[in-house]
Amino acid sequence: RIVYLNGEFLPFAQARIPVMDRGFLFADGIYEVSAVLDGKLVDNAAHLARLDRSLGEIGIRNPHSLEEWVRLETELVARNGLAEGLVYMQVTRGVYERDFAFPPADVAPTVVMFTQAKKVSANPLAETGAKVVTVEDIRWKRRDIKSVALLAQVLAKQAAAQAGVAEAWMVEDGAVTEGSSSTAFIVTKDRTLVTRPLSTALLPGITRAAVLRLAAESDLRVEERLFSVEEAYAAEEAFYTSASAFVMPVVEIDGRTVGAGRPGPLTRRLRALYVEMARAS
Ligand code: PMP
Repeated sequence: RIVYLNGEFLPFAQARIPVMDRGFLFADGIYEVSAVLDGKLVDNAAHLARLDRSLGEIGIRNPHSLEEWVRLETELVARNGLAEGLVYMQVTRGVYERDFAFPPADVAPTVVMFTQAKKVSANPLAETGAKVVTVEDIRWKRRDIKSVALLAQVLAKQAAAQAGVAEAWMVEDGAVTEGSSSTAFIVTKDRTLVTRPLSTALLPGITRAAVLRLAAESDLRVEERLFSVEEAYAAEEAFYTSASAFVMPVVEIDGRTVGAGRPGPLTRRLRALYVEMARAS
């Protein structure tokens, strides 16, 4: 596998990051993940726009233009012969003597990119549906920033793994904020699609935005509002979205069966529409 590091394409074993990198010491950095389908990047411009915004919010200058990012990602995908999977991108505030405050402005950000082969469209879990557990949302207050400080998500995902399920939904004041690495949706008994409105309390999911566009085009009823864990238990359907999971049906929450216990018709339709959109990227 070939990794991109600060202007070079290298074999993984040759890519080295200094101990004083602020990403390592402070999780002082930002990341993005774009899916690759049929060798092409999915909804990539939106991911790069969010990367730029995340960097801006924490005062790291974006080291590349949109065109440069696309060129680097495309070259990395080609060098790795990746047909289906993910491109991971990370930018940290660079390498400097350890001190919380920012280093001088001339310290260059560290840029890393690698690919991961993964079945994103033909995922068997999408056929049976995923189970989720709920956990308390213990994160900081700027979850709209795609920070590499992911300890709360690591613990949430481990709680899911220990429960033998695919994802953890995080809960704050009784309402579902989002999944540990996904956006949470439910479909109510009257067939309304419900997801939390954007705010600093959650990441503005790129797949979320695409699904809301597809839902509007299909004349589905959509409500962007908070929903409780109890409402999720009682939902007709549930699913989560992310660049890597696309639209993933949820059939069980905290051991309670959702709807008929199979991927619901509306969820299946949105997944099919999303895959179609992704293939046309
Ligand atoms: N919320 C969180 C906390 C995430 O980590 C992710 C995936 N990075 C998402 C939502 C989904 O975002 P996207 O659809 O842009 O992958």
